Amino acid sequence: MEHSLSVRASAERTVALVNALTGQGDTGTRPASPGSDPASVPHPASVPDPDAIARVLLAHGEPAPVELTVDDVAEMNAAAVRLREVFAAPGLAAAATALNRLLGGGAGPLRLSSHGGRTAWHPHLDSDDEAPWGEWLLGASCLALTVLLWDHQRPPGGLCASPACRNVFLTLGGGPPRRYCSRRCATRERVAAHRRAARTA
Ligand SMILES: [Zn+2]
Repeated sequence: MEHSLSVRASAERTVALVNALTGQGDTGTRPASPGSDPASVPHPASVPDPDAIARVLLAHGEPAPVELTVDDVAEMNAAAVRLREVFAAPGLAAAATALNRLLGGGAGPLRLSSHGGRTAWHPHLDSDDEAPWGEWLLGASCLALTVLLWDHQRPPGGLCASPACRNVFLTLGGGPPRRYCSRRCATRERVAAHRRAARTA
């Protein structure tokens, strides 16, 4: 496995995987019911296609071939649901508390690996280079999100404020806190607010 990405690239991979596993995903094929709890466990029937998740891994630097079973994806889905708690946390201390919960319950201890000399030495929080995919996702994500929180002293990400969207996003760089995962969601919500205002005027 390729695990020598930069912290930022690793965190971006986390967001892509969490969204593909539990959010709208890249294709938006799973519309969320408005008002549903964004951190809630998705219905088991909504566990995505292993090929779609493999494509996300390949797009984020995992060397081919990536072969995932339905069980692998179910375990990754469970990890993604737990990772959403970090993105849903309201503020820095809450995000740190959510990460501490994950670090204390499944991720760690910290170790170094070079994958038998095939990569640069880099830290891991999964138990073994051949650990199951769900354990790998939880460990690699906790590591990247922990370092981002440490480095920026702000929550590493957030949940899209659009009720029609379940995506998480990273908060990189300065500026005011983001509310939406994308310009598309921001525009949709602005149009909806405008329509509501016009109706009540
Ligand atoms: Zn969104």
